[in-house]
Amino acid sequence: MTTTTLTRPRVSDAAGPRLLVDPAAVAANTRLLAGRARGDLMAVVKADGFGHGAVTVARTALAHGATSLGVTTVAEALALRDAGLRAPVLSWLNPVDADFASAVAAGVELAVPDAAHLRAVLDTAPGARVHLHLDTGLARDGAEPAAWPSLCRLARSAERTGRVRVVGVMGHLACADRPRHPANAEGRSRFAWGVRTARAAGLRPSVRHLAATAATLTDPRSHHTTVRVGAGLVGIDPSGTTRLAWAMSLTAPVVSVRRVRAGTPVGYGHTWTAPRATTLALLPVGYADGLPRAVPGRAEVLLRGRRRPVVGRVSMDQTVVDVGDEPVRPGEVAVLLGPGTGGEPTPEDWADWFDVLPHEVLTGFGPRVARGTVGTSLRDAG
Ligand SMILES: *Cc1c(COP(=O)(O)O)cnc(C)c1O
Repeated sequence: MTTTTLTRPRVSDAAGPRLLVDPAAVAANTRLLAGRARGDLMAVVKADGFGHGAVTVARTALAHGATSLGVTTVAEALALRDAGLRAPVLSWLNPVDADFASAVAAGVELAVPDAAHLRAVLDTAPGARVHLHLDTGLARDGAEPAAWPSLCRLARSAERTGRVRVVGVMGHLACADRPRHPANAEGRSRFAWGVRTARAAGLRPSVRHLAATAATLTDPRSHHTTVRVGAGLVGIDPSGTTRLAWAMSLTAPVVSVRRVRAGTPVGYGHTWTAPRATTLALLPVGYADGLPRAVPGRAEVLLRGRRRPVVGRVSMDQTVVDVGDEPVRPGEVAVLLGPGTGGEPTPEDWADWFDVLPHEVLTGFGPRVARGTVGTSLRDAG
């Protein structure tokens, strides 16, 4: 088997766009969510902690009420171990030829969605601690109900001979962001059936988890022994019921400023023309850095204490802001995104402007954006 190491190019420029993460917000969100959970809280830090830094979010969540970690891939799980995190880690989505041996050697638990995956784990990583994954309504990951009883029996026979330990059963809800959606009751009852079926096969899964952020906040019947919370840790409440704290800010310095006459068209395609004489400020951040290509006339940034409209098309590397008659100077810093406490746009504002999920905004920032954590000095991306 060949191994590939994925690295991020170390190309960020601390004088350019900067993304700052506030662990205090993650801490507050974790405490709130752990307080709502009937049982334990697994902190989901996939996709680099929803763009906030997996290790930062993991450490903070574990210090404020989370008791385990969840990620998508084995590589993400091993990165947490490499950073020194010793809490239980579950990885739930991997190809059959993933490096299960390294995962198990590092004490990483694996979710198993079907017999082929279970056999691959038995062959390459004997002794693994696994969670059987039942599809509770997405037709995506997890075993189809028709295949569940035989998966449970296969797992039980492997467990009898000491080749695997079934420590958990997991499911996932498709429509938890709409608490009254009938798919939620259906998902809950399918999950309950899945647990009964596992027990009937002789399994004793002690960790049973179905709810993510939305159901943690709205549906205690779905909590079982553990909830898996990702979005909520960084401030996203998909159910729209609870005020959480945004943890990310994005700033960019003004590169240059120009005065233009009324009638001056701006940017590719000339989609915007200055209606009057005005001053334009240029920011060195574009769609390659994670800004959605603007719907003209909607996006704004905070500059000199006021919201200023983004004008013309966002290009790959740059964005133009109309600052009117404000004497803005190069080097002044615009706030593109933040918790909203200083009047800056929030991830929710971006989601509205660009018709995307806040999840997409927060996970979308590129390698040129320098990353830092509030309370420590700026570190390079990577
Ligand atoms: C991403 C994910 C979660 C976390 O969901 P949030 O809504 O972000 O809390 C939980 N379980 C699975 C299977 C996921 O893919």
